[in-house]
Amino acid sequence: MKCLICRQADPMEGFTSIYFKREEFQILIRSVPAKICPHCGEAIVDEEAAIQLLNRAEEAVNQGMMDVVCEY
Ligand SMILES: [Zn+2]
Repeated sequence: MKCLICRQADPMEGFTSIYFKREEFQILIRSVPAKICPHCGEAIVDEEAAIQLLNRAEEAVNQGMMDVVCEY
């Protein structure tokens, strides 16, 4: 499957970091499994991982954390 962004290369299994920011709150999650395009660097996170990430972010917000760095 070619990269959806550049259509130049096949994304390969790898890891990326995801960063979210919402007003005062920010979270950086490292080592998220994703497919990385070797041509344009686009990282495609699968749906299951994306849902996990949102849950993690929401949990952190609920615990009153403002600035979070964690591993996936
Ligand atoms: Zn690409």
